[in-house]
Amino acid sequence: MTATLKNPFDISGKNAIVTGGAMGIGFGIVKRFVEAGANVVIADIDLNAAEAAAKKLAEGPGKAVAMRVDVSQEDAGDKMVEKCVKEFGSVDILVNNAGIFPSVPMLEMEPALFDKVIAINLKGLAFASKAAAAQMIKQGKGGKIINIASIDSLHPSMVGLAAYDASKGGVLMFTKNFALEVAPHGILVNAIAPGGITTEGTSGPIGSLTKEQMEQVLDQFKQLIPLGRMGEPDDIAKVTLFLASPAADYMTGEMIVVDGGRLLK
Ligand code: NAP
Repeated sequence: MTATLKNPFDISGKNAIVTGGAMGIGFGIVKRFVEAGANVVIADIDLNAAEAAAKKLAEGPGKAVAMRVDVSQEDAGDKMVEKCVKEFGSVDILVNNAGIFPSVPMLEMEPALFDKVIAINLKGLAFASKAAAAQMIKQGKGGKIINIASIDSLHPSMVGLAAYDASKGGVLMFTKNFALEVAPHGILVNAIAPGGITTEGTSGPIGSLTKEQMEQVLDQFKQLIPLGRMGEPDDIAKVTLFLASPAADYMTGEMIVVDGGRLLK
């Protein structure tokens, strides 16, 4: 498909999987994809929320269907690919968005929680990428894989996120190495590093922080954003759509920072 000046972000007829797509940044991405004409599997650990999300988008133009998946399970990637092929006929785009960000200082961290963060944020993302890429190679038409990393892939935001930062640093280098590996197949692998985005996940208690402590943390964080506001899911969704579209056909192994200028400070 060729991008036109009228609609450089046309992905109509493409079939996509978005993990963690029931809410927050993931749902923002699903909305833009459906608006741009793509069909989307909303793959989320919360089936009710995923079904509710799909229902909200019933008017299209693209289609959205829900499935329950825990991306940390070994067969998650294969199951998502199977569902997308069964519903829509192919997998052209994968967005690895599902992630958790419990705030617990490393000095209080239990190995099981550390493992869980890595299993969802990094290993789950890697094996979903493997499954999607294998399908894209079979189809023979290339594809796009977009990983939602974080500004914490580059710089720590706050104490309490050592496990998270390790996982997101891993996402950055996984993106680059996998981009190299699958480039000969026309599969492009890129990442986005969001700054502070207001979502369901950042609006409640996180790890050892209460809702009130979290509000305080976000307030301090906001003071450091040159553009003067927290981001919205759609700020990330629009850049994800760019990477998924023909407008980004010569980009691979890159990470785009979308943080209102936060890392400038
Ligand atoms: P969110 O509001 O918590 O939404 C995440 C979604 O993923 C939820 O529906 C969640 O379900 C689902 N999920 C969690 N664990 C899963 C699993 N194992 N398998 C499948 N789905 C799972 O999160 P968000 O703030 O939108 O963040 C989305 C991504 O952006 C994450 O990777 C995060 O690290 C990254 N990010 C966010 C920010 C930010 O400020 N928000 C900044 C930088 C990077 P439940 O709610 O049922 O757990």
